[in-house]
Amino acid sequence: MKALDELTFDNRFARLGDAFSTHVLPEPLDEPRLVVASDAAMALLDLDPTTAETPVFAELFGGHKLWAEAEPRAMVYSGHQFGGYTPQLGDGRGLLLGEVYNQAGEHWDLHLKGAGMTPYSRMGDGRAVLRSSIREFLASEALHALGIPSSRALCVIGSSTPVWREKQERGAMVLRLAPSHIRFGHFEYFYYTKQPEQQAELAEHVLNLHYPECREQPEPYLAMFREIVERNAEMIAKWQAYGFCHGVMNTDNMSILGITFDFGPFAFLDDFDAHFICNHSDHEGRYSFSNQVPIGQWNLSALAQALTPFISVDALKEALGLYLPVYQAHYLDLMRRRLGLTTAEDDDQQLVERLLKLMQNSGVDYTLFFRRLGDEPAALAVTRLRDDFVDLAGFDAWADLYKARVARDGDDSEAKRRERMHAVNPLYILRNYLAQSAIAAAESGDYSEVRRLHEVLTKPFEEQAGMEQYAQRPPDWGKHLEISCSS
Ligand code: AMP
Ligand code: MG
Repeated sequence: MKALDELTFDNRFARLGDAFSTHVLPEPLDEPRLVVASDAAMALLDLDPTTAETPVFAELFGGHKLWAEAEPRAMVYSGHQFGGYTPQLGDGRGLLLGEVYNQAGEHWDLHLKGAGMTPYSRMGDGRAVLRSSIREFLASEALHALGIPSSRALCVIGSSTPVWREKQERGAMVLRLAPSHIRFGHFEYFYYTKQPEQQAELAEHVLNLHYPECREQPEPYLAMFREIVERNAEMIAKWQAYGFCHGVMNTDNMSILGITFDFGPFAFLDDFDAHFICNHSDHEGRYSFSNQVPIGQWNLSALAQALTPFISVDALKEALGLYLPVYQAHYLDLMRRRLGLTTAEDDDQQLVERLLKLMQNSGVDYTLFFRRLGDEPAALAVTRLRDDFVDLAGFDAWADLYKARVARDGDDSEAKRRERMHAVNPLYILRNYLAQSAIAAAESGDYSEVRRLHEVLTKPFEEQAGMEQYAQRPPDWGKHLEISCSS
């Protein structure tokens, strides 16, 4: 375990120089205070979790103090936003404080979001509000606990600093951790601004630090791109299987590591709805739940375009061709497991699709359906779940297919089926209304609810005593919350 002042830095991105990022100091928050910290994320830095409660912790992550070795930088990037190219974006309110390595030899970027204005702030104030910082914190840690690759969050620091959104709110900072903060948009920036040398330097940097095994391949850059395609396909398969809607899949929000990145108006599905749009400024539904799959490929094509100086067009196209099959394989594998199946049959895809079609417009809670399906033997479980569906005849036909499929899957004890299914079907997910209740309490100075919710979500598959209220369908007020994208 380390004390806060014992972190060891190795700022590899900062060393790339001023073409890639700009030195900016964090602008401190007034009266910084700890809202919530993640013990699991603290452990990634070998930090003693009790140090989160010390005043110096709030000062460090509230922008008042810096380690001597930190080199705060705002990164420059660009990206396609809602399908159109924005020539210059960049860290408008977040700073890469530096790269810390732990005892296991892993490097973690420390990124402080809400740290004030930078040369890339455009019309923004450089701030993040408490509400959106809590949402990012809870989502990062909850996705990780579900096994969905994600950036992590160390803590949220609240303050008395006024920040103006639709109304006056309070500023906060979230400390984000990731092995890299390089986005598709970094490559797009150097490609479209015609800086081939810097672009090559960036590609070398990513290859050496994040895809070193690709060095051994005959075409290292191509191998790296393939890996990026596969990792993104796998990540999106997990989003779809667990009902996670990102909401702003712009290429500046896509990580070259294939981890979930930049949380805005995201949502987990309550009732299953393939057409669900969680971002209320997404009028055309570009980033609707089911569109996430083709958009993942669209985004990878935008990255491929930026990599044309390094890789032949034919090879890029071939690599992009991996996306759908890899997506499909991961998705089907996870959905089979969610249904309790241990073997594969050709018609399984259809079994899943038919179920989702029946769920559509039926008001079936997506998470609880699978959890309850595993509570009991198949025949009993489908009888109990039947009442949730509108098309009863349709559901009965599906249930017959499912029971027959379960029977073919092999002999199974009730206990084994439950254990296997509960290990992949969460009881607790970050429902918008749960986040909303915790945020409302935090905004009036009570952080206990955020902390409790975070605790519950770190063990989503384990039934926790006294936590029944976190495993419920939303009450009427919490069903179709509009989450502001002004964050
Ligand atoms: P986002 O929608 O959070 O992914 O942000 C898109 C771009 O806008 C990024 O370049 C952000 O840094 C920038 N941005 C978002 N909010 C602010 C803000 N309040 N102040 C400055 N820049 C911002
Ligand atoms: Mg962003």
